[in-house]
Amino acid sequence: MNGRIPKNKNNNYSKESILERLEFIRSQTGLPLENIGNYTVDPELVKGNIENPIGFAQTPIGIVGPVTINGDHANGKFYVPMSTLEGAMTISYNRGCRLISKVGGARVMVLKDAIQRAPVFILADVGKAREFIHFIQTNLDTFKQETMKVTQHGRLVQCECYAVGKSVYTRFEFFTGDAMGMNMITQATANIVAAILRQFPVEDYYLESNMGVDKKPSYINMLHGRGKTVTAEVVIPRHYVNRYLGTTPERIFKLFRYGHMGCTLAGVHGGNLQFANGIAAVFLACGQDMANVAESSTGAGLVEVTDQGDLYYSITLPSLIVATVGGGTALPTQRECLEILGCFGEGNARKLAEIIAAVVLAGELSLAGAICHGDWVSSHEKYGRNKPE
Ligand code: NAP
Repeated sequence: MNGRIPKNKNNNYSKESILERLEFIRSQTGLPLENIGNYTVDPELVKGNIENPIGFAQTPIGIVGPVTINGDHANGKFYVPMSTLEGAMTISYNRGCRLISKVGGARVMVLKDAIQRAPVFILADVGKAREFIHFIQTNLDTFKQETMKVTQHGRLVQCECYAVGKSVYTRFEFFTGDAMGMNMITQATANIVAAILRQFPVEDYYLESNMGVDKKPSYINMLHGRGKTVTAEVVIPRHYVNRYLGTTPERIFKLFRYGHMGCTLAGVHGGNLQFANGIAAVFLACGQDMANVAESSTGAGLVEVTDQGDLYYSITLPSLIVATVGGGTALPTQRECLEILGCFGEGNARKLAEIIAAVVLAGELSLAGAICHGDWVSSHEKYGRNKPE
């Protein structure tokens, strides 16, 4: 295979230029590729979301719920669109959502809302590094003004500094409104760095040191949060655990304890059964950046048996990266899914975060029940197999 991928300098997103690239790949591979180029979406809309498009991936969208949520931003009953290729998953989340609703809903709240960019600066020696930290900490107001020059909605909240020898790792933390914010804060951080360099010469710097920890699981995100830090809890009366999950609060608590030991042995960040499943499925349906599942799904559960013998279950997502504005949120099917949740556009990012937290809680409850009761394998055998003929 060789040859340059066709590019149309005038309009790389027209149907004609998409077809030209598809034909090129057909000729390179000898494949008919009948489905990729069969789409209903106006391809001009994906400008800013992808380069060199040849068509659209079509993944199915299922619906679960209603899940009753008693949140600070999401209040009421919600049907939730989820896009996945794992059979038996949506039926499991549906069971968890309905169980939460039967007991009056999940209490959900956003605890923190901020996202970081982390430039590293290399100074002449450790003394200069200490001076540099002082300079950063005493010039925050200037950096806030630099931020306001490039964004209307974003604002700088704080900056943490970590010294390693003569280098200083900075973590600039921003509030980004309803946008996920990485384009916004990368531009803002570049502005801040330019202001720093004008006043405090350094030997070298990199705009991102990897300590911002975008799209990677990490302990700093677990502890300090990234995006929305959101938590959800529910108490399920013992007889409901018995009737709908086919097990007891004690057996689920024991699973939780042994599961945590398993996570410790395996070196897993946090401890959860399937946070990534629910998060990825809502992200895909609702136009979120899929790679952020990496940090969004590193959270922890907390399970207890109450003094009354009922099941207390909570989940915390310290670094949930969501948007209801910008990114892929305005694309046609993605927008429709956000609209099903009443979450499209301005003023809705925290509401979306709370809905996702409730869905994640539903998934944990249902899978915990399935593992304890023993219908985990049989439900996948019934709903989730795709053996090639
Ligand atoms: P964006 O789609 O680039 O821009 C969204 C813009 O919407 C904001 O900058 C803001 O403009 C405006 N806006 C209007 N109403 C708003 C509201 N209510 N709240 C917040 N903003 C509002 O989105 P982004 O969130 O900055 O970046 C997300 C994209 O970055 C995703 O596509 C993601 O894949 C990508 N990404 C980029 C990097 C990177 O290194 N640059 C890294 C990872 C991901 P103002 O700023 O003028 O207020």
